[in-house]
Amino acid sequence: MSLPFPTRQLYYDGQVRAASSGKTFQTVNPATATPLADIQVASNSDIDAAIAAAERAFQVWSKTTYIARARILQKAAALLRERNDEIARVETLDSGKAFTETSTVDVVTGADVLEYYANFIGGGGLNGETTQLREDAWVYTKKSPLGVCAGIGAWNYPIQIALWKSAACLAAGNTMIYKPSEFTPLHGETLAQIYTEAGLPAGVFNVVNGAGDVGAYLTSHPTIAKVSFTGQVSTGMKVAGSAGGNMKYVTMELGGKSPLIVCPDADLESAVDGAMMANFYSTGQVCTNGTRVFVPRSLKAAFEKRLLEKIPFVRAGPLFDEQTNYGPLSSEIHYKKVVEYIRYGIENDRATLLTGGPGKPDVPQDLQAGYWVKPTVFTDCNDDMRIVKEEIFGPVMSILYYDTVEEAVRRANTTEMGLAAGVFTKDLNQAHKVIDQLQAGITWVNTWGESPAEMAVGGWKKSGLGVENGHKGIEAWLQNKSTLVDMSGAVATVFAKL
Ligand code: NDP
Repeated sequence: MSLPFPTRQLYYDGQVRAASSGKTFQTVNPATATPLADIQVASNSDIDAAIAAAERAFQVWSKTTYIARARILQKAAALLRERNDEIARVETLDSGKAFTETSTVDVVTGADVLEYYANFIGGGGLNGETTQLREDAWVYTKKSPLGVCAGIGAWNYPIQIALWKSAACLAAGNTMIYKPSEFTPLHGETLAQIYTEAGLPAGVFNVVNGAGDVGAYLTSHPTIAKVSFTGQVSTGMKVAGSAGGNMKYVTMELGGKSPLIVCPDADLESAVDGAMMANFYSTGQVCTNGTRVFVPRSLKAAFEKRLLEKIPFVRAGPLFDEQTNYGPLSSEIHYKKVVEYIRYGIENDRATLLTGGPGKPDVPQDLQAGYWVKPTVFTDCNDDMRIVKEEIFGPVMSILYYDTVEEAVRRANTTEMGLAAGVFTKDLNQAHKVIDQLQAGITWVNTWGESPAEMAVGGWKKSGLGVENGHKGIEAWLQNKSTLVDMSGAVATVFAKL
């Protein structure tokens, strides 16, 4: 059967190359459960060849001036913007996200980060520091790239993740081998081609395809200097353990079970809108989702009523329809996992199902085989329920009622994860006090989810190590060299006389 897209190969040393493994897998359109393309799997020797190309390219790219690097990255950002809709279309088919979303967020926010770091390095952002120690002595620091780095992507924001990793990596002067998730691999080759077209030297950005075993071989390869990983906590712990044990640098962007606290004085409309964005955007497949919604007991009736009135605004349907703002889950395996959690919530946790459930939403006939689930809300939840403790990574909101804000903050922090958190309140003092006490690396006041290029994002506790984006994000791709210069003409020595 001919598939909608040609077979995807690997991309290294500046061009598309056939994999030598003889193995392929298929990527599937989750809206219809039909295959989109065959993807060739990288063998270990293909990965070795890609790494060797990246090692050679590092000799050139790491010495390329900041201005020249910036110019190439800016050109790549411009090409991404020019081809926004074409790329977004493929992302929609591959990931199941509505085109209204991929065409306004995925490529755009990726290109923003590329442009941000291009401007940053072009404007002297990688300059070191000079410290005058004494009249005739000073210390200067220099920021150097690390070498060949590995980027491992998750499936929820395919091209955005690839760009958030590669932008900072390449701007810093490193080269990269990137492995997309096997569930959403189509963007990898497109991005590599855009980089090449923008003038990136061969071997600076390379793509290998495959599943976890390809990721494991790549991230444990002795030549790899750094691993930047986005994925689940359990996989991240394995990868960080193996990389850290070999003294590789790591950045880990992992999962969360983030709390959203609605204070008694909050604007109800904003709080309900925030809670919906924090649970149903991208069909709940956002790492920073605020899936534990803490609401004051006094607002229970009003909050639930307004939420139920707004649920019909979550519109599942044909993914290229401009009315559609809600797609299927991204794969069959993930669909089964999310439905199992919803069933567990009803049958074992015995939470009250306010709306949704394990059935499929109303979608046209040709989409009914897809991996659709209804936006689901459980209420009267308690902190010990499995649906409240574990990351579901789907459109499943848990509402937890509280009596005092202190209690809400304490309960919000009772999790091993610490990716994001947020508060809705009109009281400025309360907002800052609550945010200060919440144990999370990404926090919002009276909003949820925005993650601009300027904002460094990363998790606390088991949600990760290090940050991406912002000035801090590029530091994770650099190593520091400090040099002390002494011009006094005499070495201070204790061995000058008997
Ligand atoms: P996984 O951990 O399952 O996979 C992530 C990536 O790691 C995939 O490319 C996967 O390959 C690869 N992989 C799997 N095993 C290994 C291994 N042993 N060594 C190296 N690589 C490996 O995560 P998901 O793809 O399911 O992504 C969803 C998760 O990502 C959620 O927990 C979500 O919260 C988190 N996430 C975090 C973000 C953040 O910024 N903090 C942003 C986005 C998502 P393959 O899939 O091909 O098997």
